[in-house]
Amino acid sequence: MDIILLGPPGAGKGTQAQRLVERKGMRQLSTGDMLRAAVKAGTPVGLKAKAVMDRGELVSDEIVSALIGEELDAMAAGQGAIFDGYPRTANQAASLDAILEKRGRVLAHVIELEVNEDALVARICGRYTCANCGKGYHDTFEQPAVAGKCDKCGAHEFKRRPDDNEETVRTRMAEYRAKTAPILPIYEARGIVSRVDGMADIDDVTASIEATING
Ligand code: ADP
Ligand code: ADP
Ligand code: ZN
Repeated sequence: MDIILLGPPGAGKGTQAQRLVERKGMRQLSTGDMLRAAVKAGTPVGLKAKAVMDRGELVSDEIVSALIGEELDAMAAGQGAIFDGYPRTANQAASLDAILEKRGRVLAHVIELEVNEDALVARICGRYTCANCGKGYHDTFEQPAVAGKCDKCGAHEFKRRPDDNEETVRTRMAEYRAKTAPILPIYEARGIVSRVDGMADIDDVTASIEATING
């Protein structure tokens, strides 16, 4: 069973995907993470994507859909996928349909995290991750149990994204409104959209998502 987590930057997609990976053995497919890995490795895709990402605009549909196809091919057939940050355009939504169909996979739920945009800048500007395992944290909302030490792997190094600044966030939100929010009706017509209050506590959001998935 595959699911899409949909919501603007900072809505909590990555945070919730990491929890579903741990609790349900699903696999997180984040195009943002894949692109950042490509930038870091200096691959042709990374070289193309870097400037676009730094501006907060969207990378081309062809690039991200190709990345998703490759990741799915590396997965066991029975493992559920959590699409985090993909699809982001109508074109990507159409590609995903084809990608899933070709592999005999089924999109069971599209979970929209409903959030108040005013809260998102504070979430994004306080976001950081473990440099070793990638676990997500927040300066105020999700601190490690022991200051400076990752809860998951014990590492002491953390990092912040260069695009997590107020100016870029505004562009990313505008991109979401213009190109991503309009894909919801495609899934609504199929009756697979569930709305979850993304402003609730992180644990409560997880519980709502699990209730949806468990039916
Ligand atoms: P996205 O992947 O949708 O961009 P993240 O999951 O990275 O969002 O969350 C953005 C930041 O907000 C992170 O620092 C995370 O710890 C924090 N966060 C996520 N969900 C919540 C929540 N329900 N309440 C408060 N802070 C949250
Ligand atoms: P956020 O956590 O804020 O939702 P992501 O990590 O998903 O951000 O994405 C970071 C950047 O990577 C985006 O601003 C965009 O430039 C690029 N990106 C990620 N996923 C996609 C996608 N599906 N389509 C186009 N660009 C993408
Ligand atoms: Zn860690």
